[in-house]
Amino acid sequence: MSSTYSGIRESRPNTFNDCGGNSRELSSEFGKRCLKSADRTFSQGLQCQQINSMSALMSLDDSVFIAHSPQGCVGCTTLASDMYRVGQAHRGTKIIRSPRIIVTNLDQRDVILGGENKLKEAIGYAAERYNPKIIFVFTSCASGIIGDDIDAIVRDMQSETETLIIPVHCEGFKSKICASGFDSAFLSISKYILKGQKSEKQKGLINLFAPTSISYKDQLEMERMLHLLGLTVNYIPFYSSLEKIKNIPAAEASTSICKVFADEFMKELEENYNIPYSHTVMPIGVRNTDKWYKGVAALFGKEAEAEAYIKKEHARILPEIEKIRARLSGKRVFICGGTGRSFAAAALIDDFGMKLVGLETPTYDDDAQIDIEYLNEIHGDYMIDIANMQPFEQINIVNRLKPDVFIGVPGWSARLGIPTTHVLDMKRPTMGYDGILYLGNKIADQIENPGFNKKLALHARLPYRKSWYETNPFKFIKPLGE
Ligand code: SF4
Repeated sequence: MSSTYSGIRESRPNTFNDCGGNSRELSSEFGKRCLKSADRTFSQGLQCQQINSMSALMSLDDSVFIAHSPQGCVGCTTLASDMYRVGQAHRGTKIIRSPRIIVTNLDQRDVILGGENKLKEAIGYAAERYNPKIIFVFTSCASGIIGDDIDAIVRDMQSETETLIIPVHCEGFKSKICASGFDSAFLSISKYILKGQKSEKQKGLINLFAPTSISYKDQLEMERMLHLLGLTVNYIPFYSSLEKIKNIPAAEASTSICKVFADEFMKELEENYNIPYSHTVMPIGVRNTDKWYKGVAALFGKEAEAEAYIKKEHARILPEIEKIRARLSGKRVFICGGTGRSFAAAALIDDFGMKLVGLETPTYDDDAQIDIEYLNEIHGDYMIDIANMQPFEQINIVNRLKPDVFIGVPGWSARLGIPTTHVLDMKRPTMGYDGILYLGNKIADQIENPGFNKKLALHARLPYRKSWYETNPFKFIKPLGE
């Protein structure tokens, strides 16, 4: 996130949200810079960036989250809220609580007359009732359209309270790439908490950026691996605190668990705080876990230690992987997920001898091209759908390809009778060397026990007309200007 980055991922060059087709053809077009910008003339169920901004910060200690929006905007927070509650249980919290979310409930009247008074009231209420360390104010499409001056309100009210009030500009209409929501959260952390202040470096301290979707088991595994390199981990912003965020500039290096989480922020930390970073892959699967670990080790000159550990872990897990391979080899897979996980899962299935036939992921950019070229080498041709959600396209493609297993957010695909399982398992291990074994066995168990999906297919109706399944799934993607 250089000082000029807007926080809108579409502003980065060579970024595409709407395209689909054969993997080799798309990567060749992209490589030659011939991929045309396009848009969907029909779109269904886009994930908005507000939820990513909120979920990225929701587990911070002693915070209140105000959505300056209509009530419906926070509907999606139920998932992050559930994650937060489960995460507390896994961490041994005795009294589990829900995140403190307040919605200003903008309505038709506010859209005409402005909603600023409601926001002032909500901030006052949050400070009085909870006396938190931080109040985050999240903007929405509605607050953006009516032009409420949120920064001015925050400035005025900040002078009356010790509580830090931080606006996060995450109006849903600004970006079709939901990861822009992470960037909005980090832009605000940078502007309102770090403020360019440097601090004394702490030897061996590394910032480990993690999104909400990382299970506690995965957190422990990542921390354990980094401790083996003699490092101390500042795990942020998931389950962290204002103090840990303030400690970010003291780190000697940074890395992220997810490829699209904090990647821009780490650039800013390098530019402004002299903190180098490693941005490689998500540590899912043998190849990616090796690559992620080596990337971090290189920042500290600990390559030899990393190699020794990797060798030891390979000796332990490769025989186990062989057993899973015997159950999964040759199975055809469709993968759907966020950018980091979908590419990591597509590399992981190669460990088990599985073949990728389809991949749905939200964005195609220079980073994605590196992964797609690698996947083309190991899987050959497969179908790509670059889509933020769009379940109507997904079910059309999955119905054509008829994979043996669907990995990812199944949406309607579960009703096709295909075994489905998830790599975005926010409650169980997926990462590091043990995560590979857990995930592999989970996929194999699901394929060997397809009863639920088969029964579902017998009794549930598919949501679209039969003719849609015979139509080109990318029919509604039109090059801009046509
Ligand atoms: S902020 Fe906009 S896109 Fe996001 S949920 Fe609200 S209305 Fe929808």
